[in-house]
Amino acid sequence: MSKPLVLIVEDEADIADLIEFHLAREGYQTSVASSGIAALDAVSDEEPALILLDIMLPDLDGLEVCRRLKASSATEQIPIIMVSAKGEESDVVVGLELGADDYVAKPFSPRVLLARTRAVLRRHQAAPAPDGSAIEHLGVRIDPQRHEVRVNGDPISLTLTEHRLLEYLAARPGFVRTRDQIVSAVRGEGTVLSSRAVDVHVASLRRKLGDHSSIIETVRGVGYRLADPDSVVTT
Ligand code: CA
Repeated sequence: MSKPLVLIVEDEADIADLIEFHLAREGYQTSVASSGIAALDAVSDEEPALILLDIMLPDLDGLEVCRRLKASSATEQIPIIMVSAKGEESDVVVGLELGADDYVAKPFSPRVLLARTRAVLRRHQAAPAPDGSAIEHLGVRIDPQRHEVRVNGDPISLTLTEHRLLEYLAARPGFVRTRDQIVSAVRGEGTVLSSRAVDVHVASLRRKLGDHSSIIETVRGVGYRLADPDSVVTT
């Protein structure tokens, strides 16, 4: 069976060629669009399984392309990985909040690009975990129904906000979440949370996780994610 089709949206031909080369070597089918409008056309013609989306593009920029794809029921399910240049972290935050799945920073390492591609496709094909089931991750067990977290089998005491925060990140290991996404997910009845307060809760959570504190990773300029040894590759 042939591998899924990945649409590469990139206006710089040499970068598009490079991405295409690495994906093709892994057996993916590829297609290239060199502008925002061309990308929207290609999505409706070719129905790609994944889109690698550059941010700075002629005509429509990558964020606008993302906004339009996520606004349409025909295309909202297609996963998007943004490909951003250095200094575009604020655009990355906007893109993630628009519904992009992840991002890769330029200049990218081929290993990182392929790892993120595999991870995003895998998670979109995998059935979601049933609601309320416990998550066991890197020695940390999170049980949403019992409101219990265990580190190496020993229960630790978390505040409600810390618990919700950890559960939210644990729902998708390896995927970065922005502070505002965390605020929206964690905020509950009687909980007021600013995006800056997220940092304070993360710091407290890390202290309580002790030598497992590194499972919560800081993504500079963007937000936080739960470490995932299967999909995160350090450069
Ligand atoms: Ca560009």
